[in-house]
Amino acid sequence: MMVEIQYLCADCKKEMTANVGQSIIDLKLRWYLSCICKSCNTAIEMDDFGFPPDEIRQKILNQEGEWKLKINSLELKNKAKIIKVLRYALNLSIKDTSKLLKKFPYVANGTKVEMLWLKELLINQNIRASIEKQ
Ligand SMILES: [Zn+2]
Repeated sequence: MMVEIQYLCADCKKEMTANVGQSIIDLKLRWYLSCICKSCNTAIEMDDFGFPPDEIRQKILNQEGEWKLKINSLELKNKAKIIKVLRYALNLSIKDTSKLLKKFPYVANGTKVEMLWLKELLINQNIRASIEKQ
């Protein structure tokens, strides 16, 4: 999934169009940005694991909309397992994780790929979950 954003060339300071996106590799969240400046030919390639910088993430959200992670209602008995997965994935404190669970069955929201990633992590632990557009 790719989104186009306007990005300022670090060399010539002109605006260029960059492709940004997120993907999931081996149950890890990854993001990337790539573009070639039409004015000075500078090529930029960035990618990293984890969440993208806020500015980029916001642009993905603006274009794709916000998505929600829904835990199957039959999984309420597996709360401890769900807490463990979400806490580790999102790097949360126990307190923040239990706040998420108060919103059960909708326990997280973010970009489509982020929600797919959490869903995959949960399914990997045999917890049934799905994603929905906000
Ligand atoms: Zn340039």
